[in-house]
Amino acid sequence: MNSTAQKILVEKAKTSKINQVDFDNLSFGSVFSDHMLVCDYRNGAWETPKIMPYQPISLEPSAKIFHYGQSIFEGMKAYKDGNNDIFLFRPLDNFKRLNISAKRMAIPELPEAYFMEGLTTLLELDKDWIPQTAGSSLYIRPFIFASGKGFHASPADEYKFIIATAPSGSYFAGKVQVLIEETYSRSANGGVGFAKAGGNYAGQFYPTQLAVKKGYNQVIWTDDNTHEYIEEAGAMNIFVRIGDTLMTGPTSDRILDGITRKSILEIAKDEGIATEVRKITVTEVVEAAKNGTLKEMFGAGTAAVVSPISTFGYRNTDYDLPELSDSYASRLKKRITDIQYNRAEDPFGWRFKV
Ligand SMILES: *Cc1c(COP(=O)(O)O)cnc(C)c1O
Repeated sequence: MNSTAQKILVEKAKTSKINQVDFDNLSFGSVFSDHMLVCDYRNGAWETPKIMPYQPISLEPSAKIFHYGQSIFEGMKAYKDGNNDIFLFRPLDNFKRLNISAKRMAIPELPEAYFMEGLTTLLELDKDWIPQTAGSSLYIRPFIFASGKGFHASPADEYKFIIATAPSGSYFAGKVQVLIEETYSRSANGGVGFAKAGGNYAGQFYPTQLAVKKGYNQVIWTDDNTHEYIEEAGAMNIFVRIGDTLMTGPTSDRILDGITRKSILEIAKDEGIATEVRKITVTEVVEAAKNGTLKEMFGAGTAAVVSPISTFGYRNTDYDLPELSDSYASRLKKRITDIQYNRAEDPFGWRFKV
């Protein structure tokens, strides 16, 4: 242990809740491990992180998170292999993105050691909470929010950085039916779409509810200006396969720079799959669906890894995608999860042993 790690304070839970958990029937992110990490920003600095029993927190009614939504988060997973070794996947990229989100939301940036050593110390303490059953993992939710008080619409003077974790089963929601959205927008140029800022997701709920009422599971977001370009699938990046070419849009102010997205692009290249990162129009996707060259569409993100789309709706017409026996989605998902669970070589250097 180095000097910084020694500074993390640990208050262990007196009793563990682990025996109350049915590890064979885990849903996603709804039971929480014994401990959490809490780090306060006060008087212009991040204080020493503390690990303590998972518990409610108390806040002033005037805490700025409630009024002005200064809040950001990350989503990552810890994986266990057959030898009980614990791995993370590209965790420094989550740390860097947390600070990119922080900067955009006028939240003070967090020191790397507090994130990395805080997280690894927490995982070592709660290692029994990392499930070993196939497809299961410990979902990790690092987040920062404005805890400082005052109704004045300005950045808070106090913040909390918390890491809470939740053992989760494999996130397979079945094949999803999606609606290409032309009225509402997730993000705009100059906005905060590239940040994992809480309000982005609150703003998605209502349009998604409308799509669900029409019988879809999820919304495909298009650009706010013309609604002609396909941008994201719910809270996932989107991939489209036309012919044998796998495509995704370029990251921008409006599109989140997903770690799964960029990993899939690299693995696809390694597999010899033709890839294109370019703007994808709704028109070309509809054309391809009509002429039979649209082979696959899938979302990509940490929770589900890949989430295949079976149908998309556009202007009152539904277009079905074919059932493929050897889809890019399943090939790429297998390669990425084999790296995550230490079942295969990691030529990219993405796996991080805790
Ligand atoms: C988190 C997120 C993603 C996926 O990012 P990963 O790093 O792959 O988990 C994609 N789009 C949005 C809007 C997101 O919030």
